Amino acid sequence: MTEKKYINFEASRGFPAGERIRYECEICGETLLSMPQNAAACKCRNIIVDADAGRISVKSPEKMKAYEVEAEN
Ligand SMILES: [Zn+2]
Repeated sequence: MTEKKYINFEASRGFPAGERIRYECEICGETLLSMPQNAAACKCRNIIVDADAGRISVKSPEKMKAYEVEAEN
């Protein structure tokens, strides 16, 4: 089982991103990669990640969590 390490962040200062960082939407329950191949959005579109532009839009940051997964060996 992969362990989730939740990351504390301030949405006003930007969102953490990285190969092992995931975003979790608390509204629809979907999990997104913080660095997807192209662009990604959760089902309810609370979180939209535009990897090409390096932009993350979140309608309700308080309904979003970020966590890091352990490196795969
Ligand atoms: Zn959502």
